[in-house]
Amino acid sequence: MRVILMGPPGSGKGTQGDLIERKYGFPKISTGDLLRQAVQNGTPLGKKAETRMNRGELVSDDIVIQIAAERIAKDDCRKGHVLDGFPRNLRQAEMLEELGSSHPEIILDIQLNEEKLIQRLSSRRICSRCGKIFNLSLKSPGHPDTCGLCKGDLVQRRDDQPKVIKERLRVYHIETAPLVEYYQREKNYHRIDGERAIETVFLDVCSVIDSEIIKFKQTGAVQ
Ligand code: AMP
Repeated sequence: MRVILMGPPGSGKGTQGDLIERKYGFPKISTGDLLRQAVQNGTPLGKKAETRMNRGELVSDDIVIQIAAERIAKDDCRKGHVLDGFPRNLRQAEMLEELGSSHPEIILDIQLNEEKLIQRLSSRRICSRCGKIFNLSLKSPGHPDTCGLCKGDLVQRRDDQPKVIKERLRVYHIETAPLVEYYQREKNYHRIDGERAIETVFLDVCSVIDSEIIKFKQTGAVQ
């Protein structure tokens, strides 16, 4: 099974992707994480991507498809995978099609209103040591600058600054919204209400995935 997670920045794709990975064993592939890793490692690809990422713009399609294709080709993706934040425009969707896949595919589009997205993104913090994501408005009492798991420092992503958030949302509406229409028309598309608690959203996500797995098993398609 290939699960494509869509939705604007801050809609919870990464969190739901992690939960899907844990429950179903499909590795989560986040192009944002792969790019941040490349930036951190100072690779030539990371150097090319960094300026655009810091501005909230999309990185070039060729770079993104290259890192996504390399990751999808790895052995652990053979039984399926979850794509988080990829594809992000029509060209990437077409390039993904060209890579081919024997997996049945579902598209989960997590949506919520813009005010909530901005609130979530601006209060998001990441542990600089273990990578766990926190939301300051939800984080349980404790030190606001420290990870509750490993005591690492919590930092804000550069692109979670207000000006960059605005740009990312603008880019989403221009580049990614047409892709929603394409998937609605062409593919196995499901819209998920992302306004609710993480666990409640995940119940919806599981119910879609489970019913698709049953359907695919009945029709004899590969899982
Ligand atoms: P994310 O972690 O998904 O919010 O992505 C962070 C940033 O990485 C984005 O604002 C883009 O600059 C870049 N990025 C991630 N995925 C893609 C993609 N599929 N296409 C182009 N740029 C991407």
